[in-house]
Amino acid sequence: MNSTILPGATIGVLGSGQLGRMLAIAARRMGYRVHTFSPEADTPTGQVADVEMTASYEDLDAVRAFARGVSVVTFEFENIPAATVDAVAEYVPARPSSSVLHITQHRLREKTFLAKAGFPVTAFRPIHSLDDLLRGLRDLGYPAVLKTAGFGYDGKGQSKITSPDEAGAALQALGDQEAILEAFVDFETEVSVVAARGHDGTLAHYGVIENTHQRHILDISVAPAAVSPRVARQAVEIARAVLEHLQVIGVLCVEFFLTREGKLLINELAPRPHNSGHFTVDACITGQFEQQLRAVCGLPLGATEQLRPAAMANLLGDLWQNGEPNWSAACAFPEVKLHLYGKRIPRPGRKMGHLTALAAGAEEASRLVRAARSALACTTP
Ligand code: AMP
Repeated sequence: MNSTILPGATIGVLGSGQLGRMLAIAARRMGYRVHTFSPEADTPTGQVADVEMTASYEDLDAVRAFARGVSVVTFEFENIPAATVDAVAEYVPARPSSSVLHITQHRLREKTFLAKAGFPVTAFRPIHSLDDLLRGLRDLGYPAVLKTAGFGYDGKGQSKITSPDEAGAALQALGDQEAILEAFVDFETEVSVVAARGHDGTLAHYGVIENTHQRHILDISVAPAAVSPRVARQAVEIARAVLEHLQVIGVLCVEFFLTREGKLLINELAPRPHNSGHFTVDACITGQFEQQLRAVCGLPLGATEQLRPAAMANLLGDLWQNGEPNWSAACAFPEVKLHLYGKRIPRPGRKMGHLTALAAGAEEASRLVRAARSALACTTP
């Protein structure tokens, strides 16, 4: 079956945040139309799409009507109910598939899948009760990290436990949800690999990206990462094997811890373009969003070569605390690119946009992007 979806066709995006927005921009540049579906209106994706449909993911009649109007459906976040994906799949291909979403939207299923397939992960235990938790803590030791099994991101629904006395409160804080307990990783650094797998099984990747987090939220990504060639090779090989194993069609990001002993452990998978890959839009021949589009449309993947070292800094809602950031000051850095997502309310911790700096070296790019972000806080005289 020739399933290539050519320019002029309509791409459906479930979810309507910044990832969908950047996918829509890439799609429109290549002559596709874009419809987006989410429970909100005037969304980052909706603002640049041809059609924004606003309905609950549980409204399967609305989901079916949406699917009938598009040639393929992709996702901009993985926490879409399985029934929604199944309703889409009655009409058009859903890429990546519902089985990939099913695994990656649940930390326990994801870690179990990875461990069973022989991929390196930190030790973990499923937690359904306080007894499970106390036993898990005895097995894994202190500190340990308790996380909700489903629907968690950016450190939401997780807590570090440093003694048995903290166990009860930590479990209560998660509500009565299924959870996962992980051994704490004393990491040297965190890195990620963003990779794509095409319809024909071709693989492409963007090398290793070094990530620093603040309050569990990605803060800065630098590419290429300052890791040894051995670590870089291993990270890419693991990512390649994960995409193959899951038979992903689309982009997938593998997030790793690099331990002080030089060992890579997978922290999590994201079956979509990823925040740490935003630099690719400005720094690579084919950005991660165009790559996602190419993969889900069955087009050949584009070259991933990075043209210049780059660094990305997230712009969180906190930056607005003293009023509108000083955009002109950041734009005064000629090698810094400003991306804003069109969100109206700058809540603390909310991802409002990002900056990407390009430079002759990764360290210089990192310095530049931090300086440009600091300049945003300077009020105009
Ligand atoms: P997550 O939501 O699981 O990606 O976690 C967000 C961030 O919390 C990670 O990027 C790490 O910085 C930190 N973190 C999560 N799990 C662990 C762990 N098992 N050991 C140490 N740090 C962790």
